Amino acid sequence: MTAIAIDGPSGAGKSTLARRLAAWLGYIYVDTGAMYRTVGLYAVENGVNPKQEDAVTALLPNIKIHLAYQDGAQHVFLNDEDVSNRIRTEQISMAASDVSALSSVRAFLLETQRSLARENNVLMDGRDIGTVILPNAQIKIFLTASPEERARRRYEELLARGETVCYETVLEDVRQRDDQDTNRALSPLKPAEDAVVVDTTGFSFEQAFERLQQIIKERL
Ligand code: C5P
Repeated sequence: MTAIAIDGPSGAGKSTLARRLAAWLGYIYVDTGAMYRTVGLYAVENGVNPKQEDAVTALLPNIKIHLAYQDGAQHVFLNDEDVSNRIRTEQISMAASDVSALSSVRAFLLETQRSLARENNVLMDGRDIGTVILPNAQIKIFLTASPEERARRRYEELLARGETVCYETVLEDVRQRDDQDTNRALSPLKPAEDAVVVDTTGFSFEQAFERLQQIIKERL
């Protein structure tokens, strides 16, 4: 099986690029952020503070997550209910970042993620795929862009979805999540030693896509 790991901060364009690259390669696309978001959603909807390890850990046995692909689009199911849209709000982004700092949550998702890579050719995106989940991935890419550019992309995505948001708030959220994700003790966000670092600031989608295609072609 072949595994390609794409890590990087939120808003670097990982999921859109990863989805298109996986379709091009005929691999399964695994969005690990969606899994953390689903745990965050479950905590919030059950009135549990996503930062409280004991309370969140107690919920884990009740959570069953699976990913399915319909017409090339990834759908995320929480206990057989499609939560693909509900996990994409700003509130759940922050809850995902909170639960992702808990060791019980990381351990809970680690095995699911590894088993997907054992059984399929995967293109997996997240924060710790190249460093922790799939250290033997054949190709590792660390995708980044300036915080302002990432916030602008996220802002436009939220507007397009009909959410009322202010750019400064989105930028502040991006900075706060970067800070939480980079400075946490467990699986902090950082490039693997053997990752190719790609900065997409100022790149159009097509330019970033072509750059990644080129990196993959050279290494496969
Ligand atoms: O990528 P996305 O923004 O959907 O991820 C949501 C949150 O889940 C991130 O802010 C990060 O804290 C966490 N995450 C993680 N490890 C991963 C994927 C996501 O800690 N592999």
